[in-house]
Amino acid sequence: VLHSTRRIRLQSDASSEHSSNKPTLRRLLALLWPDRVLLGVALCFLIGAAVSQAMLPHCLSDTLRVIIAGQASGTLGVSTFTGPLSNLLLAALAGAFFSSLRGACFIVIGARASVRLRKQLFKSLLKQDLGFYDTTKTGEITSRLTQDCQRVADQVSFNVNFFSRTVVELVATLCFMLSYSAELTMISFATVPVVAFLSKKVGHYMQKLSEATQQRLADANAVAEEALSSIATVRTFGGEAWEEQRFQCNLLKFYELESRRAKVYVGYLFVIMILPHLGNCLVLFQIGRLCVHGLSAPTLLAFVFYLQTLNGCFNSLADIYTNIMQALGSATRVFALVHRKPNITQAAADPGSSAVKVKGHLELRNVYFSYPAHPERPVLKGLSLQCEPGSAVALVGASGGGKSTCISLFQRLYEPQKGAVFLDQRDIMDYDSSSFTEVVSAVNQEPVLFGCSIRENILYGLPEDHPARSNDLSPDVVQAACLANAHRFVQRMADGYDTEVGERGVQLSGGQKQRIAIARALVRKPQVLLLDEATSALDAESELQVQIAINNLVAQQDMTVVIVAHRLSTVQRADKICVVEGGVIVEQGRHADLLQKADGHYKRLVDQQLKHCHILQNVN
Ligand code: ADP
Repeated sequence: VLHSTRRIRLQSDASSEHSSNKPTLRRLLALLWPDRVLLGVALCFLIGAAVSQAMLPHCLSDTLRVIIAGQASGTLGVSTFTGPLSNLLLAALAGAFFSSLRGACFIVIGARASVRLRKQLFKSLLKQDLGFYDTTKTGEITSRLTQDCQRVADQVSFNVNFFSRTVVELVATLCFMLSYSAELTMISFATVPVVAFLSKKVGHYMQKLSEATQQRLADANAVAEEALSSIATVRTFGGEAWEEQRFQCNLLKFYELESRRAKVYVGYLFVIMILPHLGNCLVLFQIGRLCVHGLSAPTLLAFVFYLQTLNGCFNSLADIYTNIMQALGSATRVFALVHRKPNITQAAADPGSSAVKVKGHLELRNVYFSYPAHPERPVLKGLSLQCEPGSAVALVGASGGGKSTCISLFQRLYEPQKGAVFLDQRDIMDYDSSSFTEVVSAVNQEPVLFGCSIRENILYGLPEDHPARSNDLSPDVVQAACLANAHRFVQRMADGYDTEVGERGVQLSGGQKQRIAIARALVRKPQVLLLDEATSALDAESELQVQIAINNLVAQQDMTVVIVAHRLSTVQRADKICVVEGGVIVEQGRHADLLQKADGHYKRLVDQQLKHCHILQNVN
């Protein structure tokens, strides 16, 4: 009994782009959630590091105070200040120790987040419908899988590390500062963030302006490159003046932007240079006032150090903000893909389902279909086709008629916009994916092999507990290879079925690859086999060997075979021949019957092929 776990439904394009409304930031935090224990440990190290760092100016100030006091009282000896000095050393050691452990923890957290994100993305990519791949550039997908994922993971771990470090450092520094002087702390806290914020803002604007000028320069260079690399054409058509004008136009824009940058630069440099000093002057003015009232030199020194740390913290917070914005950009793109709902939702594989038995009756019923990449161009226009159980049906016709599309629909790679596809009178969308792959197998026109052994290629996709995997070389594998006319050539290879085929099967010839792909389709003992006969030129011997394999299959009685056939010998053996033209079946019947039709489509095709063979023979 076939398990129908969930009906595969066609969803609207809008809903396919829909991703849940969880904000990206929450998704990012969810990405880190499984490592919360490690994060907690990292946070402990982080607090230790920040407190140790914040202790440093305090210990420094203590050492100086002891030295100055000893000097003033005339009791200064080495032993007087070794105590506070060793405290200073201890604080430095603790700071280094905790910082390094904290850094290591965050590297591990980043790597784990990167692995998790890539796994989620890859899993989602494997589920996407073929229409998605038709309409999305491979480069874009791989860039999300590599660059964007890396950026997200790096930025998340780096910024969580950086942000928490800065905040803890800020709090610790403020505590120490408050313990010295509440008044001074207040003044510093009022001026420092303002200075840091303004400097960053102006700096950011300058950076944007600089990027725009670079872009203009790049545009000008592109014009020059195009013109110079096609100089013969430019000269032939007298395009020099036009090119010169285009080049100048871009240079002019570049110059305008640079002039604006020069004007802004005056203000920028002024702000950048004067503001921090203004802030410092304000704080120092207050320090001076306090000194008048007896603030000691060591305290003053400690305070200046704390002030520097505070400055650094606020600058870091501004950087973190920019980084987080960048990371969010990448993360939004990645999460859009991770949470993308495929147009055809494959029902979940049901490994526990019992063995599937169907007769193998296939039907396309009044099917209308256009590819997602070209929805405006109908490919199948109300096509109906019946394939009886155990029969061999050949689809023939001129290129572009829609034959391979029929095979793709039988494979459930796409879903028709109108009409339906049936297997044993049941909508194929009702079968769960594990049952479906057991029942329906396919060999595509240019089969893809994977970079592993021949045996593994034949067993590709079968679960670990499948009977065909029971022995090193199970009879099922050999039987499939024999039927695919591959056994003999595999046996002749040095490592037999353990021969590695290289990436995408490069170490095998085209014909050998096809025969292995046929064996791969057969090892599951499918009730339905879909075959897209290769049109690519194979050498005569390879073609003969593949043909033997295909003829073996067409002769099988216990399997429905639908084949996009290009060779007369295949077609002749078929139980039914369907001529597909312009998205419909224009003629169907047996070879002998169709040949009787004086002006039939099939007869014309056969005549054309015979003429072609005749011409080739004459040429040879
Ligand atoms: P045949 O197998 O009869 O040569 P196909 O079924 O391969 O024809 O193609 C039918 C039409 O669909 C052709 O016009 C082809 O360009 C178009 N087509 C095929 N595959 C795609 C695709 N993935 N995206 C968009 N159009 C496609």
